Amino acid sequence: MLNKYVNLLKSTGISPYIWAVLAILPFYFISQLSTTAEMVVGILLTLSFFFIYWFAFVSKGWPVYLWTCLLIIMSIAATGFYSYVYFAFFLAFLIGNIKDRIAFLVLYFIHLISTSGAINFNIVMKDELFLRQLPFVIIIWVSIILLPFTIRNKKELGHLEEKLEDANKRISDLVKLEERQRIARDLHDTLGQKLSLIGLKSDLARKLVYKDPEKARNELRDVQQTARTALNEVRQMVSEMRGIRLRDELTHIKQLLSAAEIDFKLETEPTLTNVSLLTENILSMCLKESVTNVVKHSKATECLVSIAQTRDEVIITVSDNGTGDVNDQSSANGHGLIGMRERLEFVNGSLEVTGGDGSKLVIKVPNDVKQIG
Ligand code: ATP
Ligand code: MG
Repeated sequence: MLNKYVNLLKSTGISPYIWAVLAILPFYFISQLSTTAEMVVGILLTLSFFFIYWFAFVSKGWPVYLWTCLLIIMSIAATGFYSYVYFAFFLAFLIGNIKDRIAFLVLYFIHLISTSGAINFNIVMKDELFLRQLPFVIIIWVSIILLPFTIRNKKELGHLEEKLEDANKRISDLVKLEERQRIARDLHDTLGQKLSLIGLKSDLARKLVYKDPEKARNELRDVQQTARTALNEVRQMVSEMRGIRLRDELTHIKQLLSAAEIDFKLETEPTLTNVSLLTENILSMCLKESVTNVVKHSKATECLVSIAQTRDEVIITVSDNGTGDVNDQSSANGHGLIGMRERLEFVNGSLEVTGGDGSKLVIKVPNDVKQIG
């Protein structure tokens, strides 16, 4: 029961309680009055304030401004007659929620000037009840200056976040579309051409089968060869589409290094969190290229790979004890390092290359979702 309450408090904060106190408070002020007539008017004023307040919240367009002006007048009346300034707090909240910028500014200043006037009037009149609660009055006054802007900025931030989410969704849809088009292109260029070639050649073989059996046999051999190539291409396409997970790539590089008789040491291998499949594929490609370079160029006897994930990024280090004949200018010699840089840039990552005493490559990519805490 208590846990449930604590959870509720966590989700709502203490603001519902402040609102509740502010809603009950006017009745205390009204009860301080001596005549029954004043009390009745006070209660009616308070009830109608809340009623109109609710109206102002649910209405749209110009009636909102009308209700707000009416509420400002009621708030001034409550301050003047009952020394109750706290309606201004409700109004500050309402004005902060007004969408139109000009209307917001106009109502903000009307409210601020009129409430400041009413407060000053009460101070000048040396209203005893009012002077007793002066610290709270000051708090309310500061909050009517700041609260509307705070609420407005928070709402604008919320809108921007929504827009950003929309844009991200649209980008991921476009990426999917692009990928589909690429697959269609690949299918057309590879499988489509091969199948039409098979069709043509088998047709030719059928026509030649009695006239020139030797030529027909050659054509059928071509058909068989083309079918085999097509099958290989399909397999390659499927494996490319599936994407390579880092774990699978580690198995590949282990085999590659052992075939090249280079000792493989894996320092850490965490299970990555907050990393998308795209980022993981790029990391796998980079790891593969780095280790292929070690095998191709380094003449090393040892290759050390470490994979670590911090709060903000994934860091992969590939180092060897070979010639170390690599630096930032080495990219000019081939396509491997350039390709890695380009792919990493795509996911806001980076590549650092250090040569000298053996080579060292540091690959960094930010986590796709920032971890909180
Ligand atoms: P490609 O990757 O396009 O097949 P490549 O491997 O030569 O060709 P890069 O991968 O860009 O091209 O590497 C550039 C150059 O950097 C290499 O030609 C090589 O001279 C040097 N290099 C890269 N890695 C190492 C390494 N681990 N040890 C020593 N030299 C390296
Ligand atoms: Mg290379």
